[in-house]
Amino acid sequence: MTRPRIAIIGAGLAGVTLARRLDQHAEVLVLEKSRGTGGRMATRHKDGVSFDHGAQYFTIRDAGFHALVEPALEEGVIETWSTPVHHLTATGALEQREDRSPRFVAVPGMSRLVKWLARPLKVQFETRAIALEGKVGDWKLDCDHGSVEGRFDWVVSTAPAPQTASLLPLDPADQEALEGVRMNGCFTLMLQMKPDIDLPFAAAQVSHPILGWIAHNNTKPGRETGNHLVVHANNRWSDANLEEPPEQVQARMIGALEALLPVVRNALIASPVLHRWRYANVETPLGKPFLLDMDRHLAACGDWCLGNRVEAAFQSANALADALLLQMETA
Ligand SMILES: Cc1cc2nc3c(=O)[nH]c(=O)nc-3n(C[C@H](O)[C@H](O)[C@H](O)COP(=O)(O)OP(=O)(O)OC[C@H]3O[C@@H](n4cnc5c(N)ncnc54)[C@H](O)[C@@H]3O)c2cc1C
Repeated sequence: MTRPRIAIIGAGLAGVTLARRLDQHAEVLVLEKSRGTGGRMATRHKDGVSFDHGAQYFTIRDAGFHALVEPALEEGVIETWSTPVHHLTATGALEQREDRSPRFVAVPGMSRLVKWLARPLKVQFETRAIALEGKVGDWKLDCDHGSVEGRFDWVVSTAPAPQTASLLPLDPADQEALEGVRMNGCFTLMLQMKPDIDLPFAAAQVSHPILGWIAHNNTKPGRETGNHLVVHANNRWSDANLEEPPEQVQARMIGALEALLPVVRNALIASPVLHRWRYANVETPLGKPFLLDMDRHLAACGDWCLGNRVEAAFQSANALADALLLQMETA
């Protein structure tokens, strides 16, 4: 019996989790628009310094996720980040948050985990899918750079919900469900500071009109030594300023940071780096683990189905894998 050909769009945690589960039963090709795996579990390198500019840490509460990442834990690909997280108010008041679950990070940067998980898979990079052509069970992918050979029995998108909506010709009910998903933007500022500045915390959730999170990246295991800060603007402010010139966004974030933490004034030792995430976090999820159109042989999964976390991306992809494997068994 010939194995079905499945194209999975996106090499973030959801795409790679799904591909690993299906790989023994189908011919799977993962298409990724960027040059590497990881998606929003991302690490930016600049002048020998690395910054986790997307997900800051993750939890391991789900038993299936634990089973997936246990070997990574044993090999030191992920480690606990045991430093406490504080809460910082706009007036500078600081209190330590209660920890509910251990926090984990990949080592030496957040992108490593998905890269490690993707080792046995066929991933085609720098290939952005823009449309599907053909008919049910015989799909061809149009790409705006890179090209994809052959036709596919199934196509699965793990791109953020608004991108999935414009890519897959789903039925009207699924399209409507996708349109109900709300994702927020986020600006990330990456700062290299003088070695002698001393912040009163390693990481803090911030309640502030502009800022949302400040972390000392070097307090994570396996990072370079130094004073490297990752600063997120909050989602509301980011959404309101998504189309503003980057230099203006950067100046306002730095101004807000310096007003909140005077110790960082005049402490920059390299040009700041700003990253804009158009779809960073999930405000309103789909409310079910995946979309699956058995008639058209199309499906979608990702964090946006269930929540706003790395584990939600895993749970969504894992649940879709169960459903697709069952379908293949009975086909
Ligand atoms: C700033 C920020 C902070 C965060 N902090 C945390 C945190 O502390 N803890 C936590 O648990 N979670 C956090 N998250 C959320 C977490 O990163 C996500 O939940 C998780 O990484 C989502 O994985 P995914 O595979 O569903 O999607 P993604 O990681 O977005 O993967 C989708 C992939 O699809 C690719 N793609 C998109 N469109 C196309 C196309 N047309 N063709 C080809 N490829 C395409 C993308 O390049 C990407 O690689 C954060 C996210 C951001 C942005």
